[in-house]
Order: sequence, then C-alpha cells, then structure tokens
Amino acid sequence: MSKPVVTRFAPSPTGFLHIGGARTALFNWVFARKMGGKMLLRIEDTDRERSTEAAVAAILDGMSWLGLDWDGSPISQFARADRHAEIALQLLESGNAYKCYCTRQELTEMREKARAEGRPPRYDGRWRDRDASEAPEGVKPVVRIKAPQSGDIVVKDRVQGEVVFKAENLDDFIILRSDGTPTYMHAVVVDDHDMGVTHIIRGDDHLTNAARQIIIYQAMGWDVPEMAHIPLIHGPDGAKLSKRHGAMGVEAYRQMGYLPEALRNYLARLGWAHGDDEIFSTEQMIEWFSLEALNKGASRFDFVKLDNLNGHY
Ligand code: GLU
Repeated sequence: MSKPVVTRFAPSPTGFLHIGGARTALFNWVFARKMGGKMLLRIEDTDRERSTEAAVAAILDGMSWLGLDWDGSPISQFARADRHAEIALQLLESGNAYKCYCTRQELTEMREKARAEGRPPRYDGRWRDRDASEAPEGVKPVVRIKAPQSGDIVVKDRVQGEVVFKAENLDDFIILRSDGTPTYMHAVVVDDHDMGVTHIIRGDDHLTNAARQIIIYQAMGWDVPEMAHIPLIHGPDGAKLSKRHGAMGVEAYRQMGYLPEALRNYLARLGWAHGDDEIFSTEQMIEWFSLEALNKGASRFDFVKLDNLNGHY
C-alpha cells in the first residue's frame, strides 16, 4: 500500500502572502485534498532578522481568506534547530559530512581563483580528509556534506521531467554554520523527512536546491519525496512578476473587494490549463487537478489591469 499523501507549504515569514506563494499553497492544498491526504504548514523562520510575527499572521490570514486550510498546527522551523544539529552530527559520525576550518580569506581566494579561470565558484573540498588537529587557531568550523564527485544527480520531477545535474557542478555545501545554526538546505530536508512529506510542490527557483537536498536524503538513507517544481509567475509583459506589475500581495485584492473564490479560481488556472473551463467550483478543482497537467513554462499574471490598481500597492 502506498503512503498517505502529505504535502506542505513552507513560506518564509518576511512579508505578506505573495501571489506566487498563494498559488504554491493552493496547488499543495488541492493536491492533498484530491489524494485524501494532508497539507502541513511550516513557517521557515530561521532567518531571525527578517522573520516577523506580523508576517506569520498575514500569511495565515491570507490562506484562511482564500479557503486554504492546513492540517495540524503550523510548525516553526526555528524551533527545530536542535534536531537539525542532531542530524548534522549523525552525518559527521557516518563520515558523510566533515568539519571545514577554512578562513574567510581562503574562501575568498578560492572564489577569485575560480573567477580568474572562468569557472563557477566551487568549494574545493580541502578539509575532506583533514582533522581538527590541523585547524588554524580561533576558526570555528562549519559542517559540510560530502557531495558526490562524479556522475549525475537526477531530480525526477512531476512537472519538469528528469532534470540532470552534473555532480562536478555541485560542491560540498554547508549544512551547519559555524554558530551551529542549520542552513536552509539542511533544515528543509530534515523537516520534510520528519514531517513525513511525500510530495514537495514549490516554485522552480528551488530546482537546483532539490539536487543538493537529494544529496542529504541519500547520505541519510532517507526516501526522497516526489517533487513538482512549478514555473514562476510572470507579469503580462513576460518579465518576472514584480511590484511594477501591480499588487503583489493577496491582501491588496481583498481590500479592493475581490471575492476570495475569484482570486483562487484565477490562481488555479495560472499555470494549469484545464480545457476551456474558465471558472470551476472547489469540487471540480479537486477532481480535475493533476501535477502532470501543470505547465512547464512561466505563466502570466493579468488578474487585474495595472490601471485599476492605482493607490493599492
Ligand atoms: N521557504 C522557502 C520559500 O519561501 C520555500 C522552501 C521550500 O518550499 O522548500 O521560498
């Protein structure tokens, strides 16, 4: 029997619920509901400087207004820091990760050398086989994962198909910073695993992260969830959606008096063409949805013409 479906929406609480985020939440929600599974909500609040309680409230509020309910209580990523450190320790003990004592200056030199040689900057693995006795004084180590040095890493994506990354382009990236806090790359994997996430549905700006995250899954011997990376949203002019295209937050549409059903319906159709049906009910949305039907190309946001938005953003 296959595992019950668990999706998650994992916003970083640094501002309002963005149109792009709302669409990601919607696809996670509709897929979980279709499969009779759960959608969890994880607040990625590890960036203590930029995360605010007001943003958490705005995101929850925007989701509720759109009718996107989540299962269980929201999970704080920051609150799980000890668990992230524990897994980093396990990776150290199993020899899949190592402490790197490079100084800032060494890293700068490495970057500059790569630039001079026309190569992308890449950590060269110089601490892979050294131990702490060789560490320069006063340098607190970071923990790096050992990435494969040859071959391919393949992201099997339900929207993008098989996306192949050459191992030589992925270096031994940091999983734990020198102050003991986890990087985004590491925290996401540990959380998704612990939360039992079976399907990761998110923007395709995370596609290269997916390749790195797979390295952590494999090092831990964990199953890699199914992935679906959805293309970003562009404005009517074809450029990446930004402030100049109009209101970026869900709240602005609410204040303008739009009905949540209208915006939700619009967002559902953004990147998912379902025949000629312009408007569909929640039941139809759930019945008809499939990850494979999502478009591979960027979608265009033209819900409201710019002229109508004066003063609203
Ligand atoms: N917190 C990330 C973001 O807001 C999402 C991470 C993920 O979905 O894996 O872009």
